[in-house]
Amino acid sequence: MKILVLNCGSSSIKYKLFEMADRSVIAQGGVEKIGLKDSFLKFTKPNGEKKVIEKEMPEHTVGVELILNTLTSAEDGVLKSLNELDAVGHRVLHGGQAFSESVLINDEVIKAIEDNIELGPLHNPANLKGINAVKKILPNIPQVAVFDTAFHQTMPEKAFMYALPYEYYEKFKVRRYGFHGTSHRYVSKRVCDFLGIKPEGTKIITAHVGNGGSLAAIKDGKCVDTTMGMTPAEGLMMGTRAGEVDPGMLPYVFSKGGLNADSFNDLVNKKSGLLGVSGVSSDMRDIMQAIADGNERAKLALDMFVYRLTKLIGSFVAAMNGTDILVFTGGIGENSDIVRRLVCDGLTYLGLKIDEEKNSQAHGTEVVISTADSKMKVVVIPTDEELTIASDTEAIVKK
Ligand code: ADP
Repeated sequence: MKILVLNCGSSSIKYKLFEMADRSVIAQGGVEKIGLKDSFLKFTKPNGEKKVIEKEMPEHTVGVELILNTLTSAEDGVLKSLNELDAVGHRVLHGGQAFSESVLINDEVIKAIEDNIELGPLHNPANLKGINAVKKILPNIPQVAVFDTAFHQTMPEKAFMYALPYEYYEKFKVRRYGFHGTSHRYVSKRVCDFLGIKPEGTKIITAHVGNGGSLAAIKDGKCVDTTMGMTPAEGLMMGTRAGEVDPGMLPYVFSKGGLNADSFNDLVNKKSGLLGVSGVSSDMRDIMQAIADGNERAKLALDMFVYRLTKLIGSFVAAMNGTDILVFTGGIGENSDIVRRLVCDGLTYLGLKIDEEKNSQAHGTEVVISTADSKMKVVVIPTDEELTIASDTEAIVKK
């Protein structure tokens, strides 16, 4: 079975084509700058070479068309015809309370994704554009929606409610939804397979630490809490997102910074975090380099990043009254032995011990980095959201 996975953003479409027989990626790439004059498609050719095709793409349908044409082109293609394609799986940001698992897309599902635009105003419209573009070009192909929020729908009320007047939840659906659900689901399952244990009876904290970052507390295979909230801005300090801030500061910050709701949203999502504190970059590698060059604010940014990550992991240990396994994933979690060690140094009170050598060798591979006598297992599991989307799509289509 061949499955195309699409991740549509407001001006971009990332894709991966999977051969499900051996779960291999047979083509991948992405369209960028949709809506601008200099839009282009960048992809990896079957021989591994990278190629760029420049083409003005005023909207998503043209982007999807170019991707499909490239997949079947004589020069760069991997398919003889689009008939070889069995299904398309989409990453969809916000399923609200309507979806606790992946679903086959029909008119009802499209309507429900539309209904959730209010909750995911930047992403859901782009996800819908991708779905509609495929529908237009390949009207009969099955499409599946995999929601970033779905895995977190098992959270109990006490974890997902904000302590605002109850009618804000009832009338306006104001609550914690959580994101990165596909990643938390994948790594929490994968770590159990990797260790040869069952999710039942196991307490896991998954730390997805990339440009965006969130934690999930997972008991018996089900999410019981997560750090992102109604939007992806809550929780951990991230590349450009502030994470936790005091909501009471709003009137003051609005007046001092000359901000309104939109510009504040921009501030906490795009100008804060590692970037905002360091003034250097949102990228952890740049922060590390700046620290090596003696930049004090980069050092402060890293200290804050690690401190908050450690503190919130501790809060999730408390939320579950203990934790058996801590999983690191995401660009930083998978690659930065420094961040992992600094975080684990702050968790020794839990009987957690790191094997320095294993930790320093773990870069994008599945490795247990705790010592044999550590009370909590610490494991690096590279995430694979696209493969999870493809697997869900395969399972649903086969039904
Ligand atoms: P996104 O959330 O956009 O998917 P990623 O999960 O790819 O982001 O994570 C990107 C982050 O991972 C960047 O901050 C990058 O600097 C960091 N990163 C990647 N490799 C390393 C490394 N070797 N050491 C430290 N940080 C790294």
